[in-house]
Amino acid sequence: MRMADPQQQQQTGDKGQGAAPARQPRRFGRRKVCPFCADKTLYIDYKTPSMLKRFISERGKIVPRRISGVCAQHQRNLQLEIKRARIMAFMPYSSATAD
Ligand SMILES: [Zn+2]
Repeated sequence: MRMADPQQQQQTGDKGQGAAPARQPRRFGRRKVCPFCADKTLYIDYKTPSMLKRFISERGKIVPRRISGVCAQHQRNLQLEIKRARIMAFMPYSSATAD
């Protein structure tokens, strides 16, 4: 198999020159702190779905801790309590909107 014509190669070669990669600088400095570690009075409990609702997405999914900033230990408790709250029908398993 022969290589493509050099003239033709040049035509396609200079494509995508103007499109610079939109790279966002990673911001450090303000580190997310676990709200449960920060506030010792904040108790993770299935009986307070209003508080647990802060840690679920609009669709009713548990927000990953890399987003919510909850520490590993509290994320575990949170997960457990959200699941309990679901069983008790305080919270939805999924609130998928029909669209
Ligand atoms: Zn914590």
